[in-house]
Amino acid sequence: SNIAAQAKTYQIGTDVTYPPFEFANKQNKYVGIDIDIMNAIAKEEGFKVHIKPVGFNAAVQSVQSGQEDGVIAGMTITPDRQAKFDFGTPYYKTGVVMAVAKSSHITNFKQLKGKRVALKTGTAAADYANSIKKKYGFKTVTFDDSDNMYQDVTTGNSVACFEDQPVMQYGIKQGLKLKIVTKPANTGWYGFAVKKGTHKALVSKFNAGLKKIRANGTYDKIVGQYLGSNA
Ligand code: GLN
Repeated sequence: SNIAAQAKTYQIGTDVTYPPFEFANKQNKYVGIDIDIMNAIAKEEGFKVHIKPVGFNAAVQSVQSGQEDGVIAGMTITPDRQAKFDFGTPYYKTGVVMAVAKSSHITNFKQLKGKRVALKTGTAAADYANSIKKKYGFKTVTFDDSDNMYQDVTTGNSVACFEDQPVMQYGIKQGLKLKIVTKPANTGWYGFAVKKGTHKALVSKFNAGLKKIRANGTYDKIVGQYLGSNA
């Protein structure tokens, strides 16, 4: 009988594992910058969200096909995607880097010639790698999640992977046996996305809530919780 009980629950897709933005913690609870800011914004604006960790590409496809209302998954705002999605206010800066095994001697794209590179399906990093693939003569293999992509490199099946800088930096800090060897390319921003021309109210509420949690310190608190004070 109250408004909260009647509030619509939006179905929001996210990645299965993309720390520090979304990941299952030791208690198997989904946490991370995306999860926490989405929940904080929903609370601030009085709407409900059901966040589903279905994988990055699956989350993006589900929004495009209208099965889910939105996606928050460290999703880069790109011109291609802006033709199909409406994005909320950009909330985190990113760029694409190449990472290799800790013990690798590879430091540049030229050394990828004839070698195998691991990519993650449907990502901006994969798009970038594919755009330079012919020029540098490397082969590619794709994975649906970041963990399996990293593993292909640490086990030596692939010599490199392409990933977003903040995610790769965090993973390495957490103990991944990889190192970043290139400067960030195709720099951009993460944004919350809905299918183009739909959910105008949801995007407005997201933007209003983001503005509030930025102003009241919640956003910085969330980011600091995962990345420390110099984030
Ligand atoms: N930021 C990248 C993209 O938008 C990767 C996102 C992800 O893997 N969750 O394509």
